[in-house]
Amino acid sequence: MDGDVQVPLRESRFTRRCALIAAGLATPCVAAASLPLALASSDSQQKPREFGLDEPLADERTTFAIQTCLDARSDALMRGDRQAFVATIDQRNPTWRRIQGDVFDLSSRGGWGPTATFSPVRLQEKPHGYVKAFLEVSPSRGAPPAECTTWVFSRQADGTVLHAEPTNDELGMRQTTSFGTVVLSHYDWDADIIDRVAIVAQSAWTRVSSIIDLPEVNRPIISLNPTYGAHSGLRGFSTWAAYLPGSRSTVLLRSLESFGAGPVPITETEESRLLIPLAHELTHLANDCVLSIVKIPHWMSEGLAEYIADNFRTREFSSAVASNRQWSLDKASEIIEWGSDVSRGYTANDVSLAYAHASHGTRYFIERFGIARFWELAREFASSRRWSESFFTVTNVSWSDFGADWFRWSKGIFA
Ligand SMILES: [Zn+2]
Repeated sequence: MDGDVQVPLRESRFTRRCALIAAGLATPCVAAASLPLALASSDSQQKPREFGLDEPLADERTTFAIQTCLDARSDALMRGDRQAFVATIDQRNPTWRRIQGDVFDLSSRGGWGPTATFSPVRLQEKPHGYVKAFLEVSPSRGAPPAECTTWVFSRQADGTVLHAEPTNDELGMRQTTSFGTVVLSHYDWDADIIDRVAIVAQSAWTRVSSIIDLPEVNRPIISLNPTYGAHSGLRGFSTWAAYLPGSRSTVLLRSLESFGAGPVPITETEESRLLIPLAHELTHLANDCVLSIVKIPHWMSEGLAEYIADNFRTREFSSAVASNRQWSLDKASEIIEWGSDVSRGYTANDVSLAYAHASHGTRYFIERFGIARFWELAREFASSRRWSESFFTVTNVSWSDFGADWFRWSKGIFA
């Protein structure tokens, strides 16, 4: 249901504000949501203690220790020195150790910015001796920062720090808090970002529920996970969100300001990044409430999720159309189903392009027949299990004619 959620949103619905905090330094990531929000309830929030580099109080020793750790990490990755890399990682949390092993392996293959360098621009104290560091990421040494991200470090007795994630015990109690139309399940650890997540979650759910009529009013639960060890359903290295199939209630989401949320381009906010995967997975949840998601073709379920998340991957699709490489929707479904199976030989680009086909196929279907007919087709096929017959019964158009019409439409929208 995911693996398809890693293309950042281009049209941010949030305002990013950056305040210059020291001459010559780049800007910190101070993302401020501009959407008004009435909070139905919220736990008492304590403002986190924050340090700016321009404040004399700033924990300069901690900043220096973090920079030292980051430099050692970057050097180790550039040299491919696993032992030196491991020496920068807090070893107490086994899931974290495994994830960082994956990071090293990925980086060794050139896939995870082996030349990137990091600089802390702001620090925030966290419980149990941890410190959250807001970092700027340069693609290579000396290059201007292109991305920002937030990592956690643990203070060591000798004054150094290690790159860390807290253990499950250190995250505090998991609790649920209602925010208008959604419910967030979150740890104490995330008290400082919960309001921002609530804004993204409500925005995503508004988008989903404006297109999918649900049989009953339900409030989705968004389970927020600040670490890789926090939930067994969200341990994939680069998965930002996931629907728990069959639950009809819960979507898992990475916390803002966590390693798993990944870096974002300096012109974007973490909120805007999470909006697409969250809207995508919430669509799966809503789909499952209307009709079991496993009973409809992949191009319909993934296409609807991408359509509602407004994630059309237009550049990829238009390029395929222009070079007469457009696939049928059956082919797109096959690639979505088998894309991660190495024996089939599909690349990540193939899978992404299959999602682009699915979203455009869904858009064409809905523009031509309407969303009500989309569900009618889904139900008809779920009961008959005969695709061509079901398609003709519902639309009065043959599946092959629809395919040809869709090819022509695709040429037309990019003409
Ligand atoms: Zn999906």
